[in-house]
Amino acid sequence: MDKALKTIAEKIHNEVRLDAADALTLFESQDLLALGEMANFIREQKNQNLTYYNINRHINYSNVCYVACKFCEFGQPKSSPKAYELTVPQMESIAQEALAQGATEFHIVGGLHPDLKLDYYEALLATFKRAAPGIHLKAFTAVEIDYFAKVSRLTHETVLQRLVAAGLGSMPGGGAEVLTDRVHKLTHANKIGPDAWLQIHRLAIPWGSVPTPPCFMATSRPQQIR
Ligand code: SF4
Repeated sequence: MDKALKTIAEKIHNEVRLDAADALTLFESQDLLALGEMANFIREQKNQNLTYYNINRHINYSNVCYVACKFCEFGQPKSSPKAYELTVPQMESIAQEALAQGATEFHIVGGLHPDLKLDYYEALLATFKRAAPGIHLKAFTAVEIDYFAKVSRLTHETVLQRLVAAGLGSMPGGGAEVLTDRVHKLTHANKIGPDAWLQIHRLAIPWGSVPTPPCFMATSRPQQIR
């Protein structure tokens, strides 16, 4: 075991709380096996031999995107024969199919579509909620939230509030491929950079600017296996 981890491992096995310096040591360690052993010890203390998971269905509402990130093969210009966007009946059909397969969560993301306004995204969430009232909707990266605000001429706060009212339950962390300005400029300069990405996530936490219940960042009810 990495020598720097030995004291921490003793603390963990003696159920002594770790401090900020310990957290930094863990973060900087490259001894993945030791980190894994310690993490599993804590996990078993808390959950015995149970593991929890969601049944998650990914839904990409549209691949139309005005940005051309250098690493992306998903986004298409509107003129592309591969371009598509979901209609409400298509959304309902996907929701029903996913529910029949036991889905507990929908993960919804898409390209930055130049024509769709916020009411499309509200309708999308509301449609999924109507088709599957118990489903958890994890949708729209910070990059999309920023873009919805721009095309609809609204603030980030308003966009988040309206989407939460329509059924948004949490946000995925996508769009943060590289949180350094240097690489951001080289590969995806038309998307928001690190500062805006972080700021939108700060807004989305329950005690931030979005007056939402504390469940906002929660995930759907997990399934359990032994
Ligand atoms: S913004 Fe997203 S969908 Fe559009 S090109 Fe970049 S990675 Fe692809």
